Amino acid sequence: MLPLALTLILTGMLLYADDDGSEEVPQLAVGSEFKGETSAKDRADLPLFSLHFVMMTDHEKAVAAATPQRLAEIEDLLNRKFASTTGEHLARFKIRSFASLETLQKSACPEIYESIVNRTSSRYGDYWKCKDPQVRAPQGITIFIKHHDTDKLSYGGQVTGMPFAQINWERFRKDERVFLHELGHAFGLGHSCPPAKGSGEKSNVMNFSKGCKPLEPGESGWLYTPSQVEKVKTRRDAYAKKFAKVKDPVWASVLSETERR
Ligand SMILES: [Zn+2]
Repeated sequence: MLPLALTLILTGMLLYADDDGSEEVPQLAVGSEFKGETSAKDRADLPLFSLHFVMMTDHEKAVAAATPQRLAEIEDLLNRKFASTTGEHLARFKIRSFASLETLQKSACPEIYESIVNRTSSRYGDYWKCKDPQVRAPQGITIFIKHHDTDKLSYGGQVTGMPFAQINWERFRKDERVFLHELGHAFGLGHSCPPAKGSGEKSNVMNFSKGCKPLEPGESGWLYTPSQVEKVKTRRDAYAKKFAKVKDPVWASVLSETERR
């Protein structure tokens, strides 16, 4: 069998980068660095992105982990920490939908469910071909909850212009960094090199030594640094412009629900 990453590339996915998350230990921000004290939730001036979650494994602990509370925590995390080291929020996020195993099974694309339960590798290829809006969101950010039995990596990137993250279910349950790291990839960031041991410099959320580039001189911090922010904004604005033209009745209905409340 081909390694999963290669299989995914061959099935037409553009994997921006990968990360098993085991290399760098998140370091608590020190001093005045922003730690998510404020939320972008009510910042109507910022682009709003929908979050669509998809269960891509039938591992029972993974299924049990995708509770409404956990999805809300992730929405809140992104509203707080998808931001610069100085606390400039870069976007707002709102849950659009969750495609459970049952949703997939009863959908117009049951082959995705079949692939999950039969442990075949066609699930992501089938996913991106699916036209059912309950299964595949036609706009916004897609977050897959993935198995980890043969591949513990999490991934972030884009497929035909759609930003996505595939999150190992163990990390999905409790981690913060993996969401900020993989969405960083989905918004155009590559890996920054971890600080040299003993240098006393801070880690950055995009740290990963494989294929890394050093941060710009003078930049440091856990969240996105100025040069990273610039890249994120460029990609963000391109996504927002494109998504505004896409008809998505599910998202329209979520937004009108919010207004009525
Ligand atoms: Zn990475």
